[in-house]
Amino acid sequence: MSYDCDVLVAGLGPVGAALCALLAREGVSAIAVEKDGEVYPLPRAAHFDHEIMRLIQKLGIHEEMAAASRVAPTYEFRNAAGQILMSYDLVAQGSPSGWAPSYMFHQPSLEIALRRLAGESPLVDLRLRRTLRSFDQDADGVTAQVDGPDGPETVRARWLVGCDGAKSPVREALAISMDDFGFDEPWLVIDALVSDPSRLPAANLQICDPARPTTCVVMSQGRHRWEFMLLPGETPEDLLDDGVIRELLKPWNCDDCVEIERKAVYRFHGRVAQQWRDGRVLLAGDAAHQTPPFAGQGMCSGLRDADNLAWKLAAVIRRGADPALLDSYQTEREPHARDLIQLAITMGRVVCIADPQAAAMRDAGMLAQRAAGAEPPAPAPSVLGPGISLEGGGEYFPQPWAGEVRMDDVLGEGPWLITRETVSDGALAPFADRLAPWFDSRGVEAVLVRPDRYVFGTGTVEALEAAWAERVG
Ligand SMILES: Cc1cc2nc3c(=O)[nH]c(=O)nc-3n(C[C@H](O)[C@H](O)[C@H](O)COP(=O)(O)OP(=O)(O)OC[C@H]3O[C@@H](n4cnc5c(N)ncnc54)[C@H](O)[C@@H]3O)c2cc1C
Repeated sequence: MSYDCDVLVAGLGPVGAALCALLAREGVSAIAVEKDGEVYPLPRAAHFDHEIMRLIQKLGIHEEMAAASRVAPTYEFRNAAGQILMSYDLVAQGSPSGWAPSYMFHQPSLEIALRRLAGESPLVDLRLRRTLRSFDQDADGVTAQVDGPDGPETVRARWLVGCDGAKSPVREALAISMDDFGFDEPWLVIDALVSDPSRLPAANLQICDPARPTTCVVMSQGRHRWEFMLLPGETPEDLLDDGVIRELLKPWNCDDCVEIERKAVYRFHGRVAQQWRDGRVLLAGDAAHQTPPFAGQGMCSGLRDADNLAWKLAAVIRRGADPALLDSYQTEREPHARDLIQLAITMGRVVCIADPQAAAMRDAGMLAQRAAGAEPPAPAPSVLGPGISLEGGGEYFPQPWAGEVRMDDVLGEGPWLITRETVSDGALAPFADRLAPWFDSRGVEAVLVRPDRYVFGTGTVEALEAAWAERVG
């Protein structure tokens, strides 16, 4: 049986590019086909969380991305009168990975870095301006027909991963339906270049004004983002007009210090594909799930997919693990992706109220809660759904830092079997003050941490090794 590559990746958005880079680290070869020549030019993600920064650290581009992003400031929901309805002080919350809880960034910068990284590996072949037209699968692999600048091409791969975005032709070809969360709101999104940031709000803002629900957030240095909800009767063309945009920005009093860089109208919605694996074909990123952006988590969820999938594909392809391992990808990832969509929709339903009476009731309720000292709920820690982890596993494993030294850099690629002994006098001794309490609070002697930094299980070394061998191969 001859193959052109182990994994054919359809689509080179952030998820496809990250998947290629992760597969290459695992020694798995990949061909990626991407219909466009450049990264997507219109405004999309502006936020990622600490877990994604830890994944970026694993990929080795954390210094570049830390310099190209900035720590997310306070996130405030305000009413039309400017009163604070709810305020998240993200920095004060800290994070289990040791990175700042949240970062603001410019999605094309990350996509370019991920593509460059993937393309540097001899195991990865990035084929731009190639459109996946169709594919067939059999017991041993997938044969895909691809249209390129020089005509049709055939690619034979062991596995195909559709990272081909919300409209996912791969998902369509498999006739996989989506569960729809019933949220569907049209918004104008504007990215601006800023010459004088001191003139703009330092906090990230949701302006819950029924006359025009609005988002205003910082991005990477030198950029700012505004989002405006379309009102009944308005069309995308109406709002994309530069004169209309200037009017919308007038209240921000920033005419002479911002220049519109890019603009787009999107419909924000929440959807999850019912099936993420069909034989030798898998879906990841927006192809598998889409969320409104109010929690800034769509791309983050897709990158978690790539991190979950890459080492499992490597286990199957390189180490002979049972392909049934790949069924745990959806069961582990889907509940978390759904929770984040639900959180974003809950936030969106607070923001998107256009009826003045309903808005007044919302404001009164939230102001009363705030006056009574109620804090907004802290983001729930990431956890895996049921899959291959042992009972009690599935939680996110922390990354302690000793000064500027990070634990993951000391340990290298996972999986890791960490015992109390290694914590007290081995290579992990510098991190003992953070790790020992972790072992104490769970009353365990050893932990096996998966390559995606979630806990496989705790127990004795022998039992963990045996369970890992049985479940992962
Ligand atoms: C306004 C807005 C704000 C957002 N804010 C955030 C945020 O703050 N934080 C966050 O985490 N997420 C955010 N998101 C979501 C985030 O942008 C997406 O989740 C992310 O881009 C999805 O990445 P992906 O790689 O799965 O898909 P995409 O980025 O859509 O990439 C899919 C790729 O597949 C290619 N393709 C499609 N069909 C084919 C084919 N047949 N053959 C070859 N190639 C094909 C496409 O050209 C594309 O390049 C936001 C989105 C929007 C719209």
